[in-house]
Amino acid sequence: MGLWDKVKEGTKTISERSGELVEAAKIRAAIARAESEVLKKETELGRLIYKWYEEQGVGGPEEAKICEEIKALKEEIAELKERLTGDVPEGMYCKKCSAKLEEDANYCSKCGYRVVK
Ligand SMILES: [Zn+2]
Repeated sequence: MGLWDKVKEGTKTISERSGELVEAAKIRAAIARAESEVLKKETELGRLIYKWYEEQGVGGPEEAKICEEIKALKEEIAELKERLTGDVPEGMYCKKCSAKLEEDANYCSKCGYRVVK
């Protein structure tokens, strides 16, 4: 095999390989798209199950366990949101770490954040 043939073969192999790489990247992207679609559908399905759980309490023990965990988290979120919406007097909680503050504290005892009044 001559030098030119070797060069040609090398070039061919590289371009073929890069073609395969592009193909693999496309396939990977398609997999990622499909996987995120599955995740979306599963979330949708989960929301439906949670709705049924709230309305009728249906589902096996495993579903009920997850639903109870979701319920607890939702309650926690509601509590945290309440802190943000100003139902709690300003300055009661540290703006940085959310720790409860002593009355008239100038600094958060947990993280040291300066309390702005
Ligand atoms: Zn703090």
